[in-house]
Amino acid sequence: MGNSLLIENGTVVTMNDARDVLDGVSVAVVSERIVALGPQEELRARYPSAEHVDFRGKVILPGLINCHTHVSMSLQKGVTLAVEEGLYRVMWPVEKSLTADDCYVGALAGAAEAVLGGSTCVVDHYFHMEDVARATVEVGVRGVLGHTIMSRLGPIVGEQELEEGMAFVERWQGKNPLVIPCLAPHASDTVARDWLLRLRTFATEHKVPLHLHLAQSPREREYIQQQYGTGCVRYLYELGFLGPDVLAAHCIYIDGDEIDLLASSGTHPIYCPMGHALGGRPMRAWEMLQHGAKAIIGTDCVCSNNVMDLVGELRIAGASQRQMTHSKDAMPASRILELVTRDAAEAIGMSSELGRVAPGYLADLTILDFDGLSTAPNYSLLNNIVYCCTGRDVNSVLVNGKIVVRDHRLVTMDEGELVNRIDRAGRGLMKRALASDAELSWLWRSSYGGTL
Ligand SMILES: [Zn+2]
Repeated sequence: MGNSLLIENGTVVTMNDARDVLDGVSVAVVSERIVALGPQEELRARYPSAEHVDFRGKVILPGLINCHTHVSMSLQKGVTLAVEEGLYRVMWPVEKSLTADDCYVGALAGAAEAVLGGSTCVVDHYFHMEDVARATVEVGVRGVLGHTIMSRLGPIVGEQELEEGMAFVERWQGKNPLVIPCLAPHASDTVARDWLLRLRTFATEHKVPLHLHLAQSPREREYIQQQYGTGCVRYLYELGFLGPDVLAAHCIYIDGDEIDLLASSGTHPIYCPMGHALGGRPMRAWEMLQHGAKAIIGTDCVCSNNVMDLVGELRIAGASQRQMTHSKDAMPASRILELVTRDAAEAIGMSSELGRVAPGYLADLTILDFDGLSTAPNYSLLNNIVYCCTGRDVNSVLVNGKIVVRDHRLVTMDEGELVNRIDRAGRGLMKRALASDAELSWLWRSSYGGTL
């Protein structure tokens, strides 16, 4: 028997089929799995050598799954905030100066911020993914990781990226429980049609998810319309690309009937509430859910979001959809919690392993302080989780049976040292990028001023 741990005295929001909320129950963890829920005395007798951790006054949730991120982009925190079409005018020009080490350091900081904000799993999509994987494993967060593949337009394009995207899956499949490899074609307009078909076949053969951006900008929609005479979603649908193993970030610039195509194909549109709100155009997440499309939630990167705080993202998800639909019925707290637990686990193909606190499931847990000012008085537990809490209320985080955050502190590395590293690497990247691109340099000075 491996290391065992008894998580005691908390309120457990199980997210099981009955949606049981259990007060004062203990959770027994052996090695990487939850093995039992029950009364303290009974579990102490059954697991006499287990370490006891007292979580009185805390709420224990299944580990929250952040379904769309680019943790490495910590180096570009907030850089698109003041710029229209920031993806094309800032992000991609900066990324031309990226090194593998930048991606590693960015991923350390991004993964650390994500886990401190309550994510136990990040679904990530970026360049130099081998270096990102090294970082996420060191931080101790679970990652569904895909090496970004682009055939045109982007900062790093070419056949070698396609080969590396597939090789990454083969290298990592079954190798480390914290790394679930997937395929990451960039978007519908930046990856050639024959590559998309190859990747679709490869994903089916290797049983790995496909994670891409879809209908994320007017430019993408215009290009697909020009080339194929249809919308981005319908283009992929007709290609036979869409399916229950596809996670599609954004799905903003879509036509009316494309929601039905997302629903009927089982595709998971990914709603990124803060990034969409700051971009001025949210995804119609609630309408999609009403039409049977299996929407899920991600923070996206700190470049477009500014923080990596999945717990805080939940209240923005609710607020933004209520504003958009002019309805207080949109996105109840119970539904929002499902999207980042059970539904997200299903989207990444791990519904029998993640997304609930139940015997047999992996011990990924997000534990919130519930004895402070932000949640008192607690009249409605689920509403208080979604609408009162932010990442600052994340007390502890377990991933794969190990405590990664304890009492708001990262256990796996020194946070102060990380701040210095990300600051140095970020300024270094920006200096190189501005020095090599006069237009970017002008845009930077006029948008943000100051010196680096
Ligand atoms: Zn993205």
